[in-house]
Amino acid sequence: MRLYENRSLERFFYAHSLMKPKASVFVIYVCLHIQKEPIRFHQKFPNMNRKLFIMTLVVATAVLGGACKKKTATDDGLANNPFMKEWSTPYGVPPFDQIKTSDYLPAIQEGIRQQAENIQAICDNSEAPTFANTIIPYEYSGELLTKVSAVFVNLAECMNSKEMEELSDTIFPLLTRHSDDIMLNAKLFERIKAVYNNRDKENLNDEQKRLLEVTYKSFERGGANVPADKQARFREINESLSKLTQKFGNNVLSATNNYALVVDNKDDLKGLTESQLAAAKEAAAEMKDAKGKYAFTIHLPSMEPFLQNCANRELRKELWTAYSTRCLDGEFSNAQIINEIANLRLEKAQILGFDNYANYVLDDCMAKNDRNVYDLLMKVWEPALAKAKEEAALYQKMMNKDGIAGALQPYDWRYYSEKLRKEKYDLDDEAIRPYLALDSARKGLFYVCERLYGLTFKENPELPVYHKDVKAFEVIDHNEVIAVVYMDFFPRESKRSGAWMTNFREQYYDRDGENHIPVVSLVFNFTKPVGDKPSMLNIDETQTLFHEFGHALHSILSRCHYPTLSGTNVPRDFVEMPSQFMEHFAFEPEVLKVYAHHYKTGELIPDELVQKIDRASTYGQGFINTELLAASLLDMDYHTVTAPAKFPQPAYEEQQMAKIGLIPSIISRYRSPYFQHIFAGGYGAGYYSYTWAAVLDNDAYECFREHGIFDPATATSFRTNILERGNTADAHDLYLAFRGQEPSIEPLLKNRGLK
Ligand SMILES: [Zn+2]
Repeated sequence: MRLYENRSLERFFYAHSLMKPKASVFVIYVCLHIQKEPIRFHQKFPNMNRKLFIMTLVVATAVLGGACKKKTATDDGLANNPFMKEWSTPYGVPPFDQIKTSDYLPAIQEGIRQQAENIQAICDNSEAPTFANTIIPYEYSGELLTKVSAVFVNLAECMNSKEMEELSDTIFPLLTRHSDDIMLNAKLFERIKAVYNNRDKENLNDEQKRLLEVTYKSFERGGANVPADKQARFREINESLSKLTQKFGNNVLSATNNYALVVDNKDDLKGLTESQLAAAKEAAAEMKDAKGKYAFTIHLPSMEPFLQNCANRELRKELWTAYSTRCLDGEFSNAQIINEIANLRLEKAQILGFDNYANYVLDDCMAKNDRNVYDLLMKVWEPALAKAKEEAALYQKMMNKDGIAGALQPYDWRYYSEKLRKEKYDLDDEAIRPYLALDSARKGLFYVCERLYGLTFKENPELPVYHKDVKAFEVIDHNEVIAVVYMDFFPRESKRSGAWMTNFREQYYDRDGENHIPVVSLVFNFTKPVGDKPSMLNIDETQTLFHEFGHALHSILSRCHYPTLSGTNVPRDFVEMPSQFMEHFAFEPEVLKVYAHHYKTGELIPDELVQKIDRASTYGQGFINTELLAASLLDMDYHTVTAPAKFPQPAYEEQQMAKIGLIPSIISRYRSPYFQHIFAGGYGAGYYSYTWAAVLDNDAYECFREHGIFDPATATSFRTNILERGNTADAHDLYLAFRGQEPSIEPLLKNRGLK
């Protein structure tokens, strides 16, 4: 059974790395509802090379070269800085109770200095470059920097303050510059290239070969191989792209904030609930001259319920038009910026030897090339569109019955869809929540992990935490602690919204062959307990819990040697697979029986409610998939041109959408002028990833269904072939090793009710 699986599609993951391509990359997977959240990290680093962007960064515990020791910590007044000491905490977790905000900057500066020395030592080596004297020291360079930045970046997101913000403004540019210095270090690259070219002459094992390839490619893709006469232009393109993507995002933000629909009369708002009206009144009270009226914005939390419930068609049209024509022209127009970005990306890709930008991006992904992406998207497109047409016919009928002539419009869709949903499948969140108390859901999650992988979890209140609400768990496998997981459940002012998984430390083996267990961080924003009522989740939140824990398992179970290849450091179109896969378990009747008991009465969730949840899960999937795929195809269209082109707006988009037969009552999930994922974020030629990963997670789960969802052999195969392997082999090969056959698209179609 699957439910609301599409939700995970809406989640957005940012993997960003802060400093350097490898041993210091810290990664953050942020899964959240992108509509509610601007793209933040990548706006800071719009230009960072893809490897940097996608990779987890690592935690290298380098054994620092002798040179670094010349200068002692006390020279810089760093003697009392907790980052300069060996952490004597259990499992070497960060001593949060000892770290002060003022400790970060000096430790980062020292970390940068030390890593620069590490790199210099590699470059100064007079011996011929080898894996042992070049790749290994590079892999393990920057120990201190990794240690500090992992803590800093995590806490900047969930323990934010004015001080931390200001510090970010200082620290991120330092890290970017440091990263550029490494990527553009010609001497370093020359050595790495020499090792790469001689790779067959060294006796390397598979993981070493992989590390060499990944390292070499990260430099190559960053432009290290660009001929001298093109290097200036290459840098110029990166700078322009950085500015343009920033501007694109700012325009969307301004245009979105700049609009409000103010309604004087409550009678015009029939259909809205009391709480929606109250929120609109509150919004109006904060505006100039709108007191006592009702205000609605084109931010989704305001717009969506309005479009779903407001019976006044003219008002729906007005709000919808404002939303869907944002940034098309006027003060915040992005029309010209789209042209510039698409053409600069093309030029960059061609300098790097690719025919188009998509193939440059995809070369580093599981999909490999644009053909594979189009093939997959079109396979889902056809059944999705057919389903959407069926849905449209139903809504059209309902609309005519309401006495409205003419064709169904985009601003009618959500209204009639919601009406029909209420009639057929009404699911009351409030009726479900008492069965999904947070503590119960967590038990259900741990139960799944135990059944699948034999893991047990023990809360350890002795471990230092960064906030009193955070709980720390030891993860135990065969009587051995294999990871520490922090879980931070509730919203607070200092925390960004959404949910995400990151690491304070990745799993890896150090140069002495000692294994370092991962220290994982999971952050959520669940409904807080009130009075004597516990925190109770809804369906979406429960799935979010399982989703993020799927990422966590990818890190917890990692058995990789080198930090760069460890855990979640996998291609973008693969990284969401383990997380989306875990979502399938959340509402399995067998699992619900374990955890879904009423928090007060202990009564098990009634079958009738379970069936309702199940039935509702495929409702509206024609629309959801069609708008998602339309956006994915549009993204590819901009990034597969092989010669500079003009993309007049909105004509270009309309022409491309007509080509695939999109019906007029649906538009692309994001229209081009506000498609931030691809023009302001790092998802250019990448929006397909959601669908790609969904094919895999559905196909993987199908395998579990075939053998029994807790079949030990299947679970062991998933663990050893995928979760333990990180990026130590090609993702497609890992998947094949698990599945024994090519992934099929059928389970996805079936689970989404498209077949
Ligand atoms: Zn995710």
